[in-house]
This record gives sequence, structure tokens and C-alpha cells, in this order.
Amino acid sequence: MNKRERMLAVFENKTPDCLPAGFWHHYQERNPAELAKRQLDFYKKTNMDFLKIMYEYMFSLPEKVQKPSDWYKIKPAGKNSPEYKKQIEVINRILDGTKEDVMSFTTMFNAMKMAAWCIGDAGIMIHAKEDPQALRHGLRVFAEVLEEWACGFLETGIDGIFYSAQFGEVGRFNKEEWNTLIKPFDLQVLSAIKAKGKFIILHLCGEPNYDFKVHIDRYGEYPRDMINWAIHANHYDLSRGIDYFSCPVMGGLDNRSLMLKGPIEEVDKAIDQLAMQYGKHGFILGADCSIQGDYNENLIAHAVEHAHNISLS
Ligand SMILES: [Zn+2]
Repeated sequence: MNKRERMLAVFENKTPDCLPAGFWHHYQERNPAELAKRQLDFYKKTNMDFLKIMYEYMFSLPEKVQKPSDWYKIKPAGKNSPEYKKQIEVINRILDGTKEDVMSFTTMFNAMKMAAWCIGDAGIMIHAKEDPQALRHGLRVFAEVLEEWACGFLETGIDGIFYSAQFGEVGRFNKEEWNTLIKPFDLQVLSAIKAKGKFIILHLCGEPNYDFKVHIDRYGEYPRDMINWAIHANHYDLSRGIDYFSCPVMGGLDNRSLMLKGPIEEVDKAIDQLAMQYGKHGFILGADCSIQGDYNENLIAHAVEHAHNISLS
């Protein structure tokens, strides 16, 4: 199987020839050409089974948002924004730089993340309490922008979106707040991706100030073709997630300890165990989230190689 066939087998809950694997980390580069090159280098060095294209541009508005009512005035540039144009360039450069038949996914964040980039995490928490209606207006505008962006990203020829669903942390928003401030806008963007017939890898992501803990069980209704969450921080293991989400899963390894520091023998042992337990149906080896801090490319490349040496068929 080539990498595309191997990934498609997993998406279809079939048994791939060997265990596919993929990891990612953040980059310091912001120039699209350099950022694309660094990601291609990482892909080639690790030989991972898909292209996970990072989104590193955050977002800003021409208007200043200070008080909640300012959300009623925002007019984001949409597809004319520099952030979107740079990401399109990154995607195109990465697609052009790959000869292999490999699936590709660009990362997208959600509407609340756009708001948080504009006014800060503390700012959105204050506005959510003071005037949720006004904040909702801003989120609705951002969700429309993200719909447009998603469609534009997909037109480049990528296979789908890696959707980072944030702001579902334990202790951040109660269920009612989450139901009005987060869920509808996530569903709006995810539905637009689904309508294009493309793949969704849903990533449930928590921030460090909430100990990376997320209400996993809020996400059962979200459209997805594959799911990835922090099994270690949440004490929510793969078997439980497979039961709950009934879709292929990616993950298994700790992004903040084992996949960061090794040792290599422990990484091998963990991969062998995961392959035995989950490898036959709908499973890609990965980590809880991006590999944090001083990632070790050699260790990541070794993990992928070790996974590839495990024959499943
Ligand atoms: Zn994450």
C-alpha cells in the first residue's frame, strides 16, 4: 500500500498493511515559503503517513475590540485577509513539494479561537460573562469567515481539514454557555466541510491553564471521519473513545513526556502494545496533541519507522 491507500484503509476501518503514524509540532517560521519548507523537511525526515499542515498565523481585525458591543462592528477581511492568503501559499507550496501519493489536511481553529486571537483569552472570558449576545455576534461572523476559508483551503486539492475544537475544557464554559458560544459555530464550519465531501479529523484540544482537560463527552454529535484527543491528560483511553465516537481514532502516545523525551525502548514498547490492541481496525498511531517544547525529530522518525515495521495484514 502507498501512504494514501494505507490512510484510506484506516478511514474505512479496514486493516492497513502496516501501522500508519503521524505526529506534529508548532513552528517559529512565519514566512510562508520557509514555513512550508520546514514542514516538508519534517514530513520527509519522519516519513509519516499524511501531511498535517499547521496553521500558524493567528488572526487580527482592522477594528479595535475592547468592550463587548464592539463585536457588532467587526468586518473581518475573510478571504482577503493576509492570514488566509499566507495559509493558502503554505498549502500550495507543501502540495507542490510532495511527489508522493499522500493525503493532506490543513489545520483550522474555531470561531472562539479567532476571537481569542483578537482580544486574548482573558478578554473572551470576560465578554462571555458580560454580554454573551454581543460575543455571539462576533462568533457568527467568524464562523462565516471560517466556512469561506475551509472551502478555499479545500479547493487547493487537500483531502480534508484537521479541525482543532478548542474551548471545551473542564472549568471554562458550563454546558449551557458551551452550547451557545462554541457548539453551533463548530457545527456550522464542520457541516460546510462535510458538504464538500472532504475528510474531517476532529481534534479535541485543551489549553495548559486548564490542564489540557476537555469535556470529551460533549463532542459526540460533531461530524468527523477520525478523532484525536489527549488520552493521558483526560484519563480517557482509546477503547473508551472508540466506543463513544464509533469512528477511526488517531493517538495513543503522550505528547508531553514519552514522545518528547523517550526513552526509545519505552516508545517501542508502547507502540507494540497499541498496534496489538488497536492496529487492525481504524487506528493511526499519533500523540495527544502537538509534540510540545524541544521536540526530538529523531525520536519521532524512529517511532514512525517502528510503526511501519509492524505488519498488520
Ligand atoms: Zn491540541
